[in-house]
Amino acid sequence: MTGRIDNARTHTDGLPQGVKNPVDGADADHAAGGGVQVILAEPRGFCAGVDRAIEIVERALQKFGRPIYVRHEIVHNTYVVNDLKAKGAIFIEDLADVPPGATLVFSAHGVSKAVQQEAAQRGFHVFDATCPLVTKVHIEVAKLAKEGYEFIMIGHKGHPEVEGTMGQLDHGIHLVEDVADVAQVQPAQTQRLALVTQTTLSTDDAAEIAAAVKARFPSVREPKQQDICYATQNRQDAIKFMTPQVDVVIVVGSPTSSNSNRLAELARKRGVPSFMVDSPDELQPQWLAGKRRVGLTAGASAPEILVRQVIDRIKSLGVVSVRKMDGIEETVKFPLPKGLKLDTKGLKLDSKELKPDAQRSD
Ligand code: SF4
Repeated sequence: MTGRIDNARTHTDGLPQGVKNPVDGADADHAAGGGVQVILAEPRGFCAGVDRAIEIVERALQKFGRPIYVRHEIVHNTYVVNDLKAKGAIFIEDLADVPPGATLVFSAHGVSKAVQQEAAQRGFHVFDATCPLVTKVHIEVAKLAKEGYEFIMIGHKGHPEVEGTMGQLDHGIHLVEDVADVAQVQPAQTQRLALVTQTTLSTDDAAEIAAAVKARFPSVREPKQQDICYATQNRQDAIKFMTPQVDVVIVVGSPTSSNSNRLAELARKRGVPSFMVDSPDELQPQWLAGKRRVGLTAGASAPEILVRQVIDRIKSLGVVSVRKMDGIEETVKFPLPKGLKLDTKGLKLDSKELKPDAQRSD
């Protein structure tokens, strides 16, 4: 799609070591004999939920024209948000700031029932860019609540995903941020308790807190599949694989990005200094002073174009080669909501697509 935020990686990302890598035009193993080397984490950057959310806003702009209103940052990345603002998106927090009849997109983090109801009452054309893996948690909460369950949610207070998930219910969902919080939780009953987690937590921290919940409430019901998503898990696993090989880790990601912060934190816990950069000019030369191997990764909301710009900046500081780490190739893709398919001209909306029931997220 023209103007689409570019997250494409070079085809050679999958090349075996030793094959000439056009990331920098250098032999991938060149630095083994000396010089400073960047080691690129795999996987890194955009996940399927972020890709889908951005595409929803871009397609809505194409089909309906500007402005398109977006509740909260569509994903937590400054570059992405500024790019979409330039294309005609207006980011708001309060639905009162959206004019009647406007098209509104919910961000990838999801929204509470109250926000959904207010949007419906105000009569907006709504497209829901909530990541399907967050929606899965919402559905599970609603289903178990009908069976009489109360919930303990592991997450970060104030994060929009946590507000959205807790806001699926009027009451009976209790937030714990750390092990100490677990002792303070006061559910009304303990026979029917279920555990849910924010999707972008540290897997290790979440496991520790979940263990404390289970120790206090042995019959607590755990999700069939863990709520922490595949993208968060894979990027953290890549950091664990990378840290023994590098002297410093640079994480491309915005300060508001939960999963980016967890990557930097994880590297530090493993004894490797780590720094987050929202843009290439934030990279400080002293971070690389005396370092031979520089690990580079990106949070799930950070586009590959920023990674390329950071590589250029690091190269300007004397790095001689860039090598991709081995890692999992992600193939997950989520379908777009109905109502955003392009017609043959790619511009006009099929009137059938405006039916309210066609605007739900798939
Ligand atoms: S980080 Fe995970 S939960 Fe969040 S948008 Fe990406 S895939 Fe979905």
